[in-house]
Amino acid sequence: MVRVPVAEGIFTGSTDEPQLIGSRCGACGIVTFPAQDSCPRCAATEMVEHLLPRRGRLWAWTTQHFPPPAPPYTGPTGKHFVPFGVGFVELPGEVRVESRLTESDPDALEAGMEMELVLIPFRTDDDGNDVVTFAFRPVKGAS
Ligand SMILES: [Zn+2]
Repeated sequence: MVRVPVAEGIFTGSTDEPQLIGSRCGACGIVTFPAQDSCPRCAATEMVEHLLPRRGRLWAWTTQHFPPPAPPYTGPTGKHFVPFGVGFVELPGEVRVESRLTESDPDALEAGMEMELVLIPFRTDDDGNDVVTFAFRPVKGAS
């Protein structure tokens, strides 16, 4: 089975150590995710690719109880849909990222807990490839 990313230009690196692909403004230094062609703060067009740190702190979260609108959502629907956690993770000094979470029980999560980026199975495409997407999971034993 071949593993393919759910979208190009979102993450890179190995399955064990993936990194999100953001961008940094060459003029003012602001970091964005996803990557952008022009700066949302100063409108400069000197954006350069910037790989984001793999760990951050959970800031806010909820549970997605029904499939998001499609498109862009291409995952399971109907009886195949399983509720999942979504949240914002603050990458220190850089940017706040909206992401799926590996934990779907909101009571199992705490504000400020350390989270790390992982790749998770998302769906199987028509060619039988294993489509993966990114998610943040709680770092065990960290506080
Ligand atoms: Zn800027």
